[in-house]
Amino acid sequence: MPILNPAIETMDRRALLELQNERLQIVINQAYSNVDFYRRKFDEAGLSPDDIKTLKDLERIPFTTRRDLMENYPYGMFAVPLRDVVRLQFPLGLYGNPIVIGYTPKDLEIWRELVARIMAGIGITEHDIIQVAFNYGLFLGAIRFNQSAELIGAAVVPASIAPAEVQLRIMKDFRSTVLASTPSFALHILEVMQKKGIDPRTLSLKIGLFGAEPWPEEVRRFIEDNWGIKAYDIYGVMELVEPGVAGECMAQAGLHIFEDHFFPEIIDPDSGKPLGPDRQGELVLTTLTTAAYPLLRYRTSDVTALHLEPCACGRTLARMERVLKRSDPMITVRGINVFPEKIREVLASFEGTGPGYKTLVSQKKGMNDQLKIEVEASVQILRATEERREALRDAIRLALRRAIGLRVEVELTKRV
Ligand code: ZN
Repeated sequence: MPILNPAIETMDRRALLELQNERLQIVINQAYSNVDFYRRKFDEAGLSPDDIKTLKDLERIPFTTRRDLMENYPYGMFAVPLRDVVRLQFPLGLYGNPIVIGYTPKDLEIWRELVARIMAGIGITEHDIIQVAFNYGLFLGAIRFNQSAELIGAAVVPASIAPAEVQLRIMKDFRSTVLASTPSFALHILEVMQKKGIDPRTLSLKIGLFGAEPWPEEVRRFIEDNWGIKAYDIYGVMELVEPGVAGECMAQAGLHIFEDHFFPEIIDPDSGKPLGPDRQGELVLTTLTTAAYPLLRYRTSDVTALHLEPCACGRTLARMERVLKRSDPMITVRGINVFPEKIREVLASFEGTGPGYKTLVSQKKGMNDQLKIEVEASVQILRATEERREALRDAIRLALRRAIGLRVEVELTKRV
């Protein structure tokens, strides 16, 4: 099975541990000397960077949370001067302060290799044509496919948010061999294909590269069986790199996590205590090479387990189970992350609504598809004319669209 960087991806785990320990020293020192937030955290915990000699000592470092990133907006978490940063990116849909993540040229170069590792690992070569049907405006990782495909010489068609009919036309005419999208959009294309009576065998597609939202095994089986392609899962964290933290190989036996760049831990989300391999808990990541935006023990809120046995593909990198659950109330709709806090924040700006509201995500074959929000409204509003109520619904829809980037159905109700 193809491996882009065999020296790393099949490295003896003891040698890998040494490499991680070495890199950890550097990242801890840089974080401590260049990021006030980390210096404060260390000082408060009575820790010095010298106390952290190996990964075994990592447990002594307090966690970093999304709230920390928000509180240090905009540049408080940066470990390099802005002149060394060549990209700034901010995930949509967060509540409170936004967060801004910076990347140096080297950070971007590493990221590019990580996604290329995933691509090579599932058999993508210079002969392939990758149709990227992610929303380039809202899913920040979409552009990553372009740059990583260049690295292995594959051609990219940034089809973005073109409707399913157009995607199918491109797929047929360009003879695309790979589709990169959210699994829900792939299901939608498949549905249109079946409705139009298009035989999947008349297309050249053989690989699906799906991610940015949870998708259970039955959805994978449904896509693979009905389309006759192999569907692979990719994983990323919007505060680090997304995609590019981990990806499946041809064995489809978990996602290889790129441990030369991220050190993974699994913790009990309630007690914060580390759990060993094979136990399910919250994934915590420490960046080992990130220059601009190092994160120490970052709580991802994603629930998974790590398996350390070697994989049938020959890689020795740990495999994480596919993420289907979160330890926080965030939901993902069509690849967009939505925090309840953000919805609450938007609704609070409208008089006569709330505080109660209910989100309903319509499910299609286990997929998040359509977001509907029932908003508690005052008696005056419910008794007002239909025009007035429609105007309010419209205004809320627009505000939510701006805030979270999604079209949302809004309903006004007495009590939710
Ligand atoms: Zn493998």
